[in-house]
This record gives sequence, C-alpha cells and structure tokens, in this order.
Amino acid sequence: MLDAGVHPAYSGIAALPFYDEFDLSTVDILLISHFHLDHAASLPYVMQHTNFKGRVFMTHPTKAIYRWLLSDFVKVTSIGSSSSSALYTDEDLSESFDRIETIDYHSTIEVDGIRFTAYHAGHVLGAAMFFIEIGGLKLLFTGDYSREENRHLNPAEVPPTKPDVMVTESTFGTATHEPRLEKEVRLTNLIHSTLIKGGRVLLPVFALGTAQELLLILDEYWSQHQDLENVNVYYASSLAKKCLAVFQTYINMMNDNIRKQFRDQNSNPFQFKYIKNIKNLDKFDDFGPCVVVASPGMLQNGVSRELLERWAPDSRNSVILTGYSVEGTLAKTLLTEPDHIPSLQNPDNNVPRRLNIEEISFAAHVDYEQNSKFIELVDPKSIILVHGESNPMGRLKSALLSKYSKFKGTENEVRVYNPRNCDELDLKLKGLKIAK
Ligand SMILES: [Zn+2]
Repeated sequence: MLDAGVHPAYSGIAALPFYDEFDLSTVDILLISHFHLDHAASLPYVMQHTNFKGRVFMTHPTKAIYRWLLSDFVKVTSIGSSSSSALYTDEDLSESFDRIETIDYHSTIEVDGIRFTAYHAGHVLGAAMFFIEIGGLKLLFTGDYSREENRHLNPAEVPPTKPDVMVTESTFGTATHEPRLEKEVRLTNLIHSTLIKGGRVLLPVFALGTAQELLLILDEYWSQHQDLENVNVYYASSLAKKCLAVFQTYINMMNDNIRKQFRDQNSNPFQFKYIKNIKNLDKFDDFGPCVVVASPGMLQNGVSRELLERWAPDSRNSVILTGYSVEGTLAKTLLTEPDHIPSLQNPDNNVPRRLNIEEISFAAHVDYEQNSKFIELVDPKSIILVHGESNPMGRLKSALLSKYSKFKGTENEVRVYNPRNCDELDLKLKGLKIAK
C-alpha cells in the first residue's frame, strides 16, 4: 500500500480514501512517502480502526514531523464542528506511533520477498520515492516530488535501476512553472509594495514544508532591506518551536547550500533573525503593516482563515497563495476573486472582500517539462498517473502519449494510464516470478 492520506476539502469519514473497497488485512507493507496530510493523515485510522496488520515504513524526518503534525490535525478536527468529524484521537496516534518503522535514504529493506529502497524526492524535508521489487517486477512510486534546487532541499534523484512501472504525480499536468528567481522577485516586490502603502500581507501555508522555504526567503530579504526593520514578520504556528528542532536535527539530510551555511556561519539557518514565532492570535498585536505566515494553506479554518476574514474588507491588504489549492477549499474559490467570502463564525454572514489576491506558486511539485524529463530518465514501460485533477491529468496523459507515439506498436511502446479511484489496472508483464 502506498500512502494513507485524507482529502483536504472534506472532514470526517468523507475525507478518507475508499478503504471499504479493499481488504486491508491483505496488505503486507504500507509505505508513506512524506508527512503532508494528503499522504499521511489517515494512517492512525488505518492502524487503529481497521483490520490492517502489516508493517509501516517512512523516513526518519517524516516520522519526527508526522508526530507533531498529526497531533495538531487531531486538535483542529476535534474542535468546533461535531466531535464525530475526528477520525481518531491523540491516544490512537501515540499507540500507533511506536509501530512505525523508519528507513534511511538509499537503504534497501526486504519483507517477505518484497524489497524496497527510499530515494530523495525533493518536495519537503523527509520526502521519499520508493523503488519496489516483487518477484522480479520493479516499480517506482514518486509520491510528490520536485526537481528544482531550492534553498534547503536536494532535488529528486533518478534511481540507478530502470523500473517496469512508474507511478507518478500529475499535480500541474502540462503547466509550466515561472522560473524560480522571477517568482521570488515577484513575491518580495508584492510584499514590499503592500507594506509601503500600509497594508498587511497574509501568506497561508501548510504548517511545514514550503513554509520553511518561504521563511528563509523572507529572512534574507529583511536582512537586505533596512527600511523594513520595523515591520514584523510572524510565523503563526503552534508547531513552530517543535518543528524548528526537527529541521535543526536533520540539517545533514538537506542540500549542500544549507549545510555550508550551517558550517561556515556556525549558526542554524532555521534560527531566523527577523521572524517572530507566535503560537496563535492571542498575543498578536494587529497594528500597522505586517506579514503573517500562517496555516492552514487552503484557508479551511484556523489562524489563516481568521486573519483572512479580518483583513478581507481593506483594499490595502494582500493575500498571497503560495501552495497548491485543492478543489472545494476557500483558497481555490479565492482565485476567482469573489466579492464576498463566507464567515466561519457566522455562517449566515458574508465578509466583503476588497483585499488583493495573488497566486505565486512555491508548491514544490514538478511542472510538465520537469516531469516528462524525469520520466524519460527513469525510462519505464508503463506510466500510471495519480495525484492530479482529471483535466490536468488527462492533458499530461495526452502529452506523454504523443511524446512516445513513435514507439507505438513496437516492443518499446510506452503505455500511460490515468485510472480513477477504485478502477483496477491489469498490466501484463513478462518474466514474472511469484513472490512468497
Ligand atoms: Zn506533498
């Protein structure tokens, strides 16, 4: 079984994968690619509330962050609306935690004839691609991955062995990313100009991952612009302190750039100079221009939602969406520039929306160019697309099929599949041995 997430636009049972359609007691191993909620947040449910009895593996940083992230997820899903929307308790979480095993990058583990190896995936700290071998069949699961060098992570690497089947993400379909330097300039310019006219800037982010990358960018920009010295940058997260420790601990798993900084300056790059951590909004003094980096990234609830509702009526303010927005969330709706947004506290009330809305994607996923290049290097016979809305995924399938059209009908034919949920794929592969 690959990953065990929830859908961010739903809550309770509705957010789960269709576990009823599958006998979980037949699963031998469950591999978690990274700590994001859409890949890991139903794991305690699977381990405590189903007949699953297999072994679970993830990398060390994923496990360390998973613990705090999911305990926060339990808190967020059990307040407010009916408690039935909580899928599991903090107890379930800690009971299942000790049974999760860890795997190092580039090391291979064998369980009952199933061999699997973890490779760097970029994306977020601890993210892994899994190369799996069963009875001679080789499969690569990318999870979410990125190929762009950023401030702190190694980009995804090509496994040394060619797989028969590759299961890859299709988040951005055939879209092209803006070059990294350009979007950083656009981001900092937009923030700077908003602050100069007296506005506030809200950066909704997923608590961990891209948030740390944005904080590195902001801290550097503040150190280069003295006129901003008196403008506060807040990172509003109850997890900030705990997770800083995790980022400090796993510096050795990041790229050369950050390790060099760590060595040369003898200080931790995640010990920010200009960024103040706040747990929640209780002690937040909302006076004058400021920047707040707050979760959740898709504005479903919590601190980012509260600030959005508070700041929406003022046209001097800006909200900048830096992550990927899933269908059905307020972040996605915002991109249509609505005149009003619904209030969470008073569902009968609407808040007028005059603040400026911008999207500058720092979501660390591959674009078409990067995805198709990586697929070419990995060189699989069959490609299975997952993790994308049906339109971008369909476009990616067409683009890949036309790229490989010259091999059609030959023995080098590349097949591309975009199955829907619960669709079964029956692949005929040569030379299969039977696993124990
Ligand atoms: Zn992810």
